[in-house]
Amino acid sequence: MKKKYKLSKKREKQFQAAREEFRNMRDLLLLNHYTLTFSHKPPKGKDTAASIHVSETRNRAVVRMSDHFYTCSPEDRRHYVIHELLHIFLAQMDYGVADLQNTMTFATWNIFYTNFHRNIEKAIDALADVLTPLSFLEERARKEQNIEQK
Ligand SMILES: [Zn+2]
Repeated sequence: MKKKYKLSKKREKQFQAAREEFRNMRDLLLLNHYTLTFSHKPPKGKDTAASIHVSETRNRAVVRMSDHFYTCSPEDRRHYVIHELLHIFLAQMDYGVADLQNTMTFATWNIFYTNFHRNIEKAIDALADVLTPLSFLEERARKEQNIEQK
């Protein structure tokens, strides 16, 4: 049977705020051609703050958030949001690499893909480190708001 994930009132409010944060950042990162949907189901792995599943064939992605995501500092949360969204840029590369699986033994594939995945995570984290504290994202948001108000 499919498990239902019911959120408390407080968590539901945080869930809505997180959706806003993800959508605003998606637009600031010029990913507004992507439709984001949000699941109440937490990500796999107890140390995972958030996860994103990017569709291989459509401009869609599903986001999940854990308790840690809601309770961490706003700066850390922003880092997680940017990190997850940056996965969208690299998702197609990931799908391309996955096609190699049938050309290798299981052991070789396992070593190769573990390394590949670790390096993707490292690169995304480094980019998120750079982007998170930058004010240019807010500046861009302000400019867009000014244009809308004119
Ligand atoms: Zn990641």
